[in-house]
Amino acid sequence: MKKCPICENGNLQEGKIEEKMFGISLGRYKAELCSGCGESFVDENTMNAMEQKARQLGIWGLAKKIKIVRSGNSLAIRIPADIARFLKLQEGKELLLHPEGTSKLAIEVI
Ligand SMILES: [Zn+2]
Repeated sequence: MKKCPICENGNLQEGKIEEKMFGISLGRYKAELCSGCGESFVDENTMNAMEQKARQLGIWGLAKKIKIVRSGNSLAIRIPADIARFLKLQEGKELLLHPEGTSKLAIEVI
């Protein structure tokens, strides 16, 4: 039996995982799962299939690095055009902004 390369303790077993990107399901895929730490491993074909599905859904590459800018007394961020398109955001649309934990900023479409 193959040992887990992460924890070097558990054994790898065939199983299935549900892959998600930005909270959107990409489907279920065959994977090797560690009986110890629960880590999952997929082969290159599966990785390609996941990427293909993410592209089909229009979410591939939607994570963007942005910079905070100053706007009067506030700080402002720009929403990249492809993210705005994906979420159907338009000027004047109301959003709910709140922290999520201490290192994440959530912006909800309401
Ligand atoms: Zn492990």
